[in-house]
Amino acid sequence: MSLIKCPECEHEILSRIGTICPNCGHMVGYFEGDKNRKKYGKFFAISLFVPFINFVLVLLSSFNKTSLIVASVIFVVLAFLSSPIRYKDIFVTKFEKILFWGIWLGANTLIAVMIYNLMHKFVN
Ligand SMILES: [Zn+2]
Repeated sequence: MSLIKCPECEHEILSRIGTICPNCGHMVGYFEGDKNRKKYGKFFAISLFVPFINFVLVLLSSFNKTSLIVASVIFVVLAFLSSPIRYKDIFVTKFEKILFWGIWLGANTLIAVMIYNLMHKFVN
């Protein structure tokens, strides 16, 4: 467990979430302290934002075969970039791991099915 300086009074405290500074009473928040947790905050935003962007992108390109192919390629790249597998070191609890794999798998499966159906439409 690493030590950080309290953001309020600079007293040295544990970086663990929920640690209360004995000097000023400040409680260590979720995105404070640990560098990994700051990275995690970024990942949290990406994991919610990227599937949404993909969804809109695929939806907008659904009337044109070429743009659908382009959107599909972008989807695969973005899905990979936002994958929890690239961030596996930063999950603090098992719950976070399950939660983000769930969100990632759910959102990307939905979009993949959408792409598949649209491709099917163009083939026939
Ligand atoms: Zn303090």
